[in-house]
Order: sequence, then structure tokens, then C-alpha cells
Amino acid sequence: MKKGTGKMDKEKANEIIRLLRKEHGVNVNEFIALKISKKYVDPFKLLIGTVLSQNTSDKNSMTAYDRLEEKIGVSPLKLAKADLTEIQEAIRPAGLHITKSIAIKKLAKEIIERYHGNLSLVLDKKTEEARKELMSLPHVGQKTADVLLLFIKNREVIPVDTHVARVSKRIGLAKHNAKYSEIQASLKKLYPPKNYLEIHLLLISHGRKICKAIKPRCGSCPIQELCEYAAKTINASD
Ligand code: SF4
Repeated sequence: MKKGTGKMDKEKANEIIRLLRKEHGVNVNEFIALKISKKYVDPFKLLIGTVLSQNTSDKNSMTAYDRLEEKIGVSPLKLAKADLTEIQEAIRPAGLHITKSIAIKKLAKEIIERYHGNLSLVLDKKTEEARKELMSLPHVGQKTADVLLLFIKNREVIPVDTHVARVSKRIGLAKHNAKYSEIQASLKKLYPPKNYLEIHLLLISHGRKICKAIKPRCGSCPIQELCEYAAKTINASD
């Protein structure tokens, strides 16, 4: 990967988002509309959706989620009671179904034991406290905790998944060697909190469709002229 310096001014950063909005805005708006659907207002359902989405496509994880909802029901009580093999069978389309089923059952049990099945008790706490507590749950890392805090409570966090990290570094929104919290801090410096959800979704969309991990499609990228990676690649081939 060509190295991003992370030296970006706000004007350029805003122009990048304006162009990404033009390119991917429709999908992002659709998602934001979907956020008001049940899965994105119930923290436990979103948590299970996030576990299912690891290392697979949206389509596969959604199929698995719907099957789980239909066959067992996505609630802490139902999943804690269900047979592991039943969960495995339901979520098979998401891949890694054995590992994921163990994680799901463990989470369901722990959330019942610690919060009587009500994850909102954690999310209602102050952001840093809630984040720390979420991360003490099995299989919940920084990204999953931030997804819950942003999507459910609109807290001032930006989840950094593999796409957000790669695209931010290539463009120069973050340093090439930045870790999770540094990428998040760089993005927060450049954009206002009201745009955090949109920024997160736009960078994911861009990473999936154009700025792919292998062979980014710089030739058809709307922000090519503003991107550090593209500038270095073009200079290198001159
Ligand atoms: S120009 Fe290339 S590297 Fe830069 S954001 Fe676009 S696809 Fe990614």
C-alpha cells in the first residue's frame, strides 16, 4: 500500500465526502432509512447481526440472520435456551457457523446473567463507560461496541472496520500506520459528529465498490484527484 500521511485539511476532507455522497449517497440513505427498522433499534439484534456479518458478505449474513429469527427468534432468552446445533443450522449461510453459534449462545447467556437480557442498560450509560462494558462481553471488540453506540444511540464514535481503515489510509484521511483509535481520532478531527454515521457508511461503500483491497479501481474513482495513494501511484508511473 502506498503511504498516506494523514495530513488533510478540512476543506479537502469535505470535498471528498461531497464526492463520495454523490457516488454512494443513494445506498447510504437507504441504509439510514433501514436503521429505523427493528433490527437497528434493538441492541441485541444488532449485536447478533454484527457477529453474523464477520468475514462474510452482507447478503449471506442477512440470510443467516433472517433464518435465525424465523427458526429460533433473536432474543437473549430464546438463544440461551436453544440447542447449539439448532443455532448452527440456522446461521449456516453466514459461514464459520460453529464458531459464530458458540459466540451467539455465550453472548445470550452472559447478557441474561449480567443485564437480565436488557442490553439497553449498558447503552444508556455514558459513552466511554458503555464502550468499556460492551467490550467486556465475549466476542465484542472496539468496532462492535462502536457500531452499537453509533447505530442505536447516535453517540459520537466512528466504527472503524476493514474498509474504513483501508480507505481512510489510502486517501490520506489517516496516517498509513494508524491503529483503530488513531484512525477514529483523525476522522473525528475532520468531520462534525452529525456526519459520523454517514462518513462510516460512505467509506464502507467506497471500499466495497471502488477502493477494493486488491486492485483499487482508481481509474473510475471520483476522488482520484484528491487521493494521496492515487497521487503517488501516478507519480511513480510517470
Ligand atoms: S483513487 Fe484509488 S486509492 Fe484513492 S480512494 Fe479512489 S480507488 Fe481508492
